[in-house]
Amino acid sequence: MATATLTIDLDAIAANWRALDQCSASGVQTAAVVKADAYGLGADRVGRTLAQAGARRFFVAVAEEGAALRQSLGPGPQINILGGHMAGDADMIRDLDLTPMLNSLQQVTRHLESLPGHPFGIQLDTGMNRLGIEAAEWQAIAPIVLAAKPEMLMSHLACADEPEHPMNRHQLANFHAMTDGLGVPRSFAATGGILLGAEYHFDLTRPGVGLYGGRPYAERPVVRLSLPVIQTREVAAGETVGYACGWTAARPSVVATLAAGYADGLPRSLSGRTPLWDGDRTVPLIGRVSMDLITADVTDLAEVPRSLDILCAHQTVDDLADIGGTIGYEILTALGHRYARRYTGQATGGQA
Ligand SMILES: *Cc1c(COP(=O)(O)O)cnc(C)c1O
Repeated sequence: MATATLTIDLDAIAANWRALDQCSASGVQTAAVVKADAYGLGADRVGRTLAQAGARRFFVAVAEEGAALRQSLGPGPQINILGGHMAGDADMIRDLDLTPMLNSLQQVTRHLESLPGHPFGIQLDTGMNRLGIEAAEWQAIAPIVLAAKPEMLMSHLACADEPEHPMNRHQLANFHAMTDGLGVPRSFAATGGILLGAEYHFDLTRPGVGLYGGRPYAERPVVRLSLPVIQTREVAAGETVGYACGWTAARPSVVATLAAGYADGLPRSLSGRTPLWDGDRTVPLIGRVSMDLITADVTDLAEVPRSLDILCAHQTVDDLADIGGTIGYEILTALGHRYARRYTGQATGGQA
């Protein structure tokens, strides 16, 4: 087979969710963020796994993701839409029992007019300036909104992965000022916010990346990516390999060509600087990452393996991100559609 295999450990995802759940008091509910197809790992399987593990509330970015997730989860778990209620979404929100987090007066109006009585939450902007209602506008419209009984007030931290950043306390103070005493359940913390401590937890936390083995809560790795060797060749000293003659053999060498490239989400910035793993041993990726292929110098291996790993227990999504100059979130969500996705773990078969 000339496609790479992405192995996704559902037990590890469930264990990471339980561990993040343990980080907050028992009265704090722990949701699960499964936007962008569960960070590239498959919202269907991941969603069902997390529902089995005990998650009762899920967050996705847009209504279409919520509609697909509802098919996987069936009735019961709450599915919240971070992007809110956009024009044309009303039927989907009603029919599939989705709960939009309304981000603006326009969305509030749209929701209350098109689906009166249908559950909704409110997203407040406490300083990130990305999504949510700002303080002054909130002050003006809060009485109307509260009369319609939002089920949650939420906001999002801009710098939660930097515990010392003054923005964290600044946003926390703003969130208190905007929500104290209103009697509505509150949600403030994603993965990073959970680690900031109890005062950031409020009633409900929303971890995403930590479920999938990424920083800032890189507990249990979740993914392994194995790239099959398609061809092996001997290269004489002085010969070059790949586009732009990106690598020159300093000695007689054995070069393996592997089936994955930048079209599969391996950034070109990994070129010439990334270890590939054969069990506990490494060989260097050499030359340029091309669209469908990379090359490795396997001269020092006693025999050429059938595949080499670029993600494994030794090299996590964050390790790869550090090498490539990006973040683990981007490595995860870029994982290619050509990979054969294999799920392992007890949760593999179950229906939530
Ligand atoms: C993506 C997102 C999350 C999850 O963040 P992680 O850092 O992956 O835990 C939570 N809340 C909002 C509003 C988000 O956009």
